[in-house]
Amino acid sequence: MKTLPIAIAAALAATQPAAAADPARLTETVKTLASDLFEGRAPGTAGEERTIGYLVARFQELGLEPGGPDGAWVQKVPLLHTRLGTPKMLAFDGPKGTMPVEQAKDVYVSTVRPDDVARIAGAPVVFVGHGVKAPERGWDDFKGADLKGKVAIFLVNDPDFAAKAGEPVSGKFGGRTMTYYGRWTYKFEEAARQGAVGALIVHETAGAGYGWNVVISGGGENYDIARKPGDLTSVALQGWLAGEAATRLFASAGLDLAKLMAAARSPAFRPVELKGVTFAADAPVAHEVVTSRNVLARLPGAKRPDEVVMLGAHWDAYGAGKPDAQGRIYRAGANDDALGIAGLFEIARAMKAGPAPARSVVFAAWTAEERGLLGSEYYAANPVFPVEKTVANLAIDILQTAGPAKDVVLVGKGQSTLEDDMARVAATQGRRVTPEGLPERGLFYRADHFSLAKRGVPVLLLMGIAGASDLEEGGVKAGQAWIDAYTGQCYHQACDAWSPDWNLAGAVQDIDLVGTIAGELANGTAWPQWKAGSEFKAIRDRSAAARR
Ligand SMILES: [Zn+2]
Repeated sequence: MKTLPIAIAAALAATQPAAAADPARLTETVKTLASDLFEGRAPGTAGEERTIGYLVARFQELGLEPGGPDGAWVQKVPLLHTRLGTPKMLAFDGPKGTMPVEQAKDVYVSTVRPDDVARIAGAPVVFVGHGVKAPERGWDDFKGADLKGKVAIFLVNDPDFAAKAGEPVSGKFGGRTMTYYGRWTYKFEEAARQGAVGALIVHETAGAGYGWNVVISGGGENYDIARKPGDLTSVALQGWLAGEAATRLFASAGLDLAKLMAAARSPAFRPVELKGVTFAADAPVAHEVVTSRNVLARLPGAKRPDEVVMLGAHWDAYGAGKPDAQGRIYRAGANDDALGIAGLFEIARAMKAGPAPARSVVFAAWTAEERGLLGSEYYAANPVFPVEKTVANLAIDILQTAGPAKDVVLVGKGQSTLEDDMARVAATQGRRVTPEGLPERGLFYRADHFSLAKRGVPVLLLMGIAGASDLEEGGVKAGQAWIDAYTGQCYHQACDAWSPDWNLAGAVQDIDLVGTIAGELANGTAWPQWKAGSEFKAIRDRSAAARR
C-alpha cells in the first residue's frame, strides 16, 4: 500500500504539521450520520432536525463561524412539492380531429408551479429541434421564433449526439459527451425563457440514457425551490412525449419526424410549427411548501475575506422506505453523501490547524440534493457570499470505498482550469487523472457544484461512481467491480450503509486532494477560469470587473 498522505495544512504553511484526513474520524462521522437515529436524513423530517443539530455542533466544535445569512448557521430553504392529479383533459387537436393522449403511456407531464390547476387551452405546437441556444458554439435553434403561449417540442440530448462522423455538426457539442444543452433540465428552463407554456421532449432511449419506465417513475411529482412570483422559471406543464406518439402526432400534421430529426442536426435549422395542431391540458395539482435548511460554516479570510472558496457536500438522503432483506428501512446514504460531509469536517479541521487563510473558506452542507440539487440551487439563487467573488466550488459526492488508487477520476473534462490543479496535486500524490467513464451520462450537470457553475463559479466534482478507479489492489477491474456493486445494489438504497469492509484509503486521497486545492486557492490570488468552449465561460466573463 503506497499512499502519500498529503498535508492539507501544508498547503497553508510549509511549517505546519501534516494533517491528512483521518479514516477513523471519517468513519465515526459516517456511522453517526447513517445511524437509525437520523432516520435516513430526509428533508422536512425529525431526521433533518437531528442532522442540522449535529452538523452545527460539529462546525462549532471545529472552531468555525456561522456562514449563513444574518450570522446564522443555517439558510432556510423553502421547498415546493407538487403532485399532478389525474388529468381531466389531455389531448392534441389536429387537422384529422382530436388525438387524446394518456398520461404515462403516450406522454408524461408534471409541473413545478404552485398553482391548483395546470391548464393549457388549445396552445399552438412548435417543434424546436434540440432547442439549443449556445452563442459560444454559434448555435441558435430558435432563430427569433415567437414561442409565447405555445407548446415547444424538443429532441432529447444535444445536436451532435446522433451525428455520424463527417457531418458538419460532429463534435460541436462534445460528440457522445453530454453538454448542458442535452439535459432535460436545460430544455425546460429554455422553454420558460422563450415564454412557452408547455415543453415536451421526444423520448428515445439512446439519447435519454434511460427507458420510458424511468421517465414515468416520477409519478407526476416534482420538487423545486419555492420561487418568488416574479422569478417563475418554469412552464405550466413539462414532460416527455413517447417516441411512437410523437411520430403519429407529426404525421397528423403532414410532417416526418425522422426527417426533422436529421434537419435538426444543422445550424440552419428553424422551428417548425405543426400547422393546425394545438395542445390542451387540464389537471389538478396538489402543492405544499416544506422548509428545509442548508448549513453554512465559515473560516474567515485574514487578508481578503470577501473572496470566498467554497467546499460542499449534501447532508440529505432518502429517508425511510420498504425494509430490505436485512430489515433495514432507512436509506441513509452512508457514502452518498455522509462521507462527503465527513470529508468537509476533515478539511475544515486541517485548515483550522494552520494559520488563517488569506481568503475566506465556506463549508456548505446542502439539503435536498436528491430532490434535484435544490439546497445548492436555493443558495445559488440567494447567495450569502456574492458569486462574482466566489473563487471556486469544490464538491464531494460519493467516494470509492475500495482502497487506494493510482488515479483520480475527472468529471467534466475540458471545463475549467481546476482540472489542471487536480492533475498537478494528484501527481504529488503519485496519482494521475483519468477522465470519467461515460461522459454521455452528463454527471457534471448532476451534483450540487452545478448550481454554482450555472451562475459562473468554476467548479470541481469528486464523484466515485463517475469512472472506475485504477486500484492499487486489483487495478481498473477491481475499481469497476466496486462501481457495479455499489450502483447495482446500494445507490439510493438501504444498502448504502457503513460497512466494516470499507477501505477509506482512496477516499482519504480524494479528500486530501480537494483540501489541498482549496488551501492553495484560499492562500493565493488566482481566479480559476472556465476553458474556451465551456457553456459557463460567458456568464463568468460578464462579472470579470468584480475580480480586478
Ligand atoms: Zn449524492
